[in-house]
Amino acid sequence: MADWEVVIGLEVHAELLTKSKVFCGCSTEFGAEPNSQVCPICMGLPGTLPLLNKRAVELAVKAGLALQCRINQFSVFARKQYFYPDLVKAYQISQDDLPLCSDGYVELLVDDTVRRIGINRVHLEEEAGKSIHAGEDIMSAAYSLLDYNRAGIGLIEIVTEPDIRSPEEARLFLEKLRQLLQYAEVSDCKMEEGSLRCDANISLRPKGSSAFGVKCEIKNLNSFRAVQRALEFEVERQKALLEAGEAVVPETRHWDEAQGMTFSMRSKAEAADYRYFPDPNLYPLEVEPSWVEAIRAELPELPDARRDRFMEEYGLSMYAAEVLTSSRDLADYFEECMEQIKDPKLVSNWVMGEVQRWLKAHGLEAADSPVSPKDLAGLLQLIQANAISNLVAKDVLEEMFATGKSAQTIVDDKGLRQISDDDSLEAMIAEVLEANPGPVADVKAGKTKAIGFLVGQVMKASKGKANPQRVNELIRQKLQD
Ligand code: ADP
Ligand code: ZN
Ligand code: MG
Repeated sequence: MADWEVVIGLEVHAELLTKSKVFCGCSTEFGAEPNSQVCPICMGLPGTLPLLNKRAVELAVKAGLALQCRINQFSVFARKQYFYPDLVKAYQISQDDLPLCSDGYVELLVDDTVRRIGINRVHLEEEAGKSIHAGEDIMSAAYSLLDYNRAGIGLIEIVTEPDIRSPEEARLFLEKLRQLLQYAEVSDCKMEEGSLRCDANISLRPKGSSAFGVKCEIKNLNSFRAVQRALEFEVERQKALLEAGEAVVPETRHWDEAQGMTFSMRSKAEAADYRYFPDPNLYPLEVEPSWVEAIRAELPELPDARRDRFMEEYGLSMYAAEVLTSSRDLADYFEECMEQIKDPKLVSNWVMGEVQRWLKAHGLEAADSPVSPKDLAGLLQLIQANAISNLVAKDVLEEMFATGKSAQTIVDDKGLRQISDDDSLEAMIAEVLEANPGPVADVKAGKTKAIGFLVGQVMKASKGKANPQRVNELIRQKLQD
């Protein structure tokens, strides 16, 4: 039987981080009282006219630049016409054959090889409102409510070329895309809040064939994991059809998270059904090349460049540099801490390990960490000065996350300072040696392994506060000299 090649293309929507909507002055704040952020323009009342938000164009250009696109000096807003209750005007202002950005790419590291995924276009459009169904789902709902707060928020749609070759690669692409858009501060890309959404197109073809197979489009993908799972399911479904000699029907399919399956929703709407035409209320969009260059100059260092610099400047491994630059927040956190503590190994270990662990446990991003980079530096200084052991430091960090107190305060309040003075240590050692004549005899007989046991007992007696290195030295002096 033929081997199949998987072909995937993604259409991704990202909400722009503007304060106001794209064609009116309404706020874009998430979570407000339903229908409190609307006006005659975004409600599509007769006699109103849209006015383009310059900042939305700026962010869309930024996205295009971060995705290596050509920014088209001339683009056109078009009406995409369809009826749905969340679309008050019965058309969405979008862009059709003349989008703002074209022909870019994203590079991914997949199994140690660089894969380049083409970006067909990035265009600017407006968001629709939101339907809230009273019931389990739309089919069983007794009625539906509509919230238009979201209607008219600026969106970019990013369309990839059909260059993606596996469900895993699709997930990796989305993660990379999110990373780029977050770095460029174009979108916060929260899939759970719907500010990043993805439809996935997938088809199969015999390996070696150059023609594409018939594709399906999958909707309702609400997480990165769902994208990969839905595509994995779809690969198997299409493969079974093709191997049974049946045809794949071009259609839109719905991902059911609970059942782990896709279901047919509707046959594919043809572009012609939308009857796109240039919006007569909006001028064609002309962007000055000098303005585009000014935006380019303001772009922050992008993730790949930052990763490479971290390896170069701090001598970090590829892995560590990848992890630390995975989000701009985390990379900033690391670098702010580095300004205080010039020890990349110490700082990277703590940020990648314990700090990330507690951020995850508290469901926080690095930028919202109750332990600031300065606070962490305070803790690491205590380790560097041998004032506390690594073990105690871990407990102190946990407490810093819980209470927001500084390391110094916690260590002082709880008397956690490492005990390094010989008088105190020798008193504790004497007690431990007396209580453990067996191991003491072993050490004296040359079985040095027992030293570890004795050091452990002293550490236990001191509740982790004894300086283990010094304890080790003192025990050796006592028993071996
Ligand atoms: P449509 O005509 O259905 O709108 P487009 O050519 O506009 O299709 O492409 C929409 C998305 O589908 C793009 O992301 C594109 O990469 C992807 N795509 C196109 N053809 C295929 C195919 N045969 N298999 C998988 N994805 C495809
Ligand atoms: Zn409005
Ligand atoms: Mg299309």
